[in-house]
Amino acid sequence: MPLTLDHSYARDLKGLYVPWQGQDWPDPQIVLRNDALARRLGLDVAALDAGLLTGHALPATARPLAMAYAGHQFGGFSPQLGDGRAILLGEVVDSDGARWDIHLKGSGRTPFARGGDGRAVLGPVLREYLISEAMAALGVPTTRALAACTTGDRVLRQNGLEPGAVLARVAASHLRVGTFQFFATRGEGDKLRQLADYAIARHDPDLSDTPDRYIQFLHRVAARQAQTVAQWMGLGFVHGVMNTDNTTISGETIDYGPCAFMDRYDPATVFSSIDHQGRYAYGNQPAIIFWNLARLCESLLPLIDADEDRAIARASDVIAQAQEEYRAAWLGVFARKLGLAAPDAALIDDMHQLWTGQGVDFTSFFRALPDALRGNAGSLRALFDDDRGLDAWLASYQALSDADTPDRVAAANPVYIPRNHLVDASLNAANAGDMAPFLALLARVQAPFTPVAGADDYAQPAPRGTPELVTYCGT
Ligand code: AMP
Ligand code: MG
Repeated sequence: MPLTLDHSYARDLKGLYVPWQGQDWPDPQIVLRNDALARRLGLDVAALDAGLLTGHALPATARPLAMAYAGHQFGGFSPQLGDGRAILLGEVVDSDGARWDIHLKGSGRTPFARGGDGRAVLGPVLREYLISEAMAALGVPTTRALAACTTGDRVLRQNGLEPGAVLARVAASHLRVGTFQFFATRGEGDKLRQLADYAIARHDPDLSDTPDRYIQFLHRVAARQAQTVAQWMGLGFVHGVMNTDNTTISGETIDYGPCAFMDRYDPATVFSSIDHQGRYAYGNQPAIIFWNLARLCESLLPLIDADEDRAIARASDVIAQAQEEYRAAWLGVFARKLGLAAPDAALIDDMHQLWTGQGVDFTSFFRALPDALRGNAGSLRALFDDDRGLDAWLASYQALSDADTPDRVAAANPVYIPRNHLVDASLNAANAGDMAPFLALLARVQAPFTPVAGADDYAQPAPRGTPELVTYCGT
């Protein structure tokens, strides 16, 4: 049965896209298809063939288009970015009535490609597949991977020719902060209102008939992003390219490029080869999300109040409130990791202080806590270069714990995250034609809380002294 697709974006948002086809490829092949996700969305798996999943041969139900958006990239504004190498096929509505975009990345050049070749290559496509599926399993709002395919030709990149590839992904929507900036900077007030009403209908339908809906909508977006970034912080996740075009309205994590998980705790952790200033370092992510949300508020000012001063005051409240919500969300995330019913700010702040400069593996710290609470602090102690501060902190923690705390900690903290050295090794193997290491890693991170006998290597940081691996944008 051909895929049933709806096209609300194409219907409602004229001026925000160009109709566009995928490219013809020499030999489209499925590398990996997420049949569990397909079934969850009610899709006929047989319809998801390599032609559809690469944009090579689309069903008649598709109405493919390239989306327009603007964005601040590393702080500098581009009035027109847009999908340079991606197309939206349309939307599916699942049995719960939820609407999902089906989107292909790497499907060829579009009118928004600027200098780019419109292509994606296998390594970055698999990286997004793996990390987005890990994030989903870890309970973080995220786009999902539906399939990774190769195109049958080769694409020139830094390290020579690499297999061309396409990622098919699913998202609650692809509306970004940059989507709003696109119309706002053009001064197209009517279109901006249309876009805001579309976003509200799609993500916050309960606000649709509220007179105050635009400011309420901003509060919702800010609250979602505050929650998402707090969850990133609780996992040591570094997104790497928090440009406003990579910040969603849905709150989903999107556009996995040079992202990675931190092993040893250091707020200055950066993986991206192009982030020389550390703008998007682990510890900067909260400040950056507020900066991006401020750009969204700015874009919506004309809809908030005809009086600009009043509009600015109300928008500023959104950011101030989001900062409070973020702090509460962040404390909640770490309270849960510590197995505590209520956050204890001093304990959580002190824990971060305790890690500083100690080379503590972030993920292992939490896995070592249950034993430490039960009186065996050896493996916890071993994570520290200098463990002198540990006993005092542990005593405060013990005082807040009860008999069930160790079990709660064990249930709340992943054993397996996509360790960057393992991701890197598995992608190198995949490029050389061996998918086995990638599939083994994927299996671990899709069930991150379940320890598997003999899989201890997957739970360990890179050996000490290994140079930190640099990651590259998914280009
Ligand atoms: P990203 O950093 O992947 O979110 O991409 C930023 C912008 O550059 C988006 O507008 C992309 O569509 C575009 N882009 C990235 N790589 C390419 C490419 N190889 N060809 C065309 N456009 C690209
Ligand atoms: Mg992007």
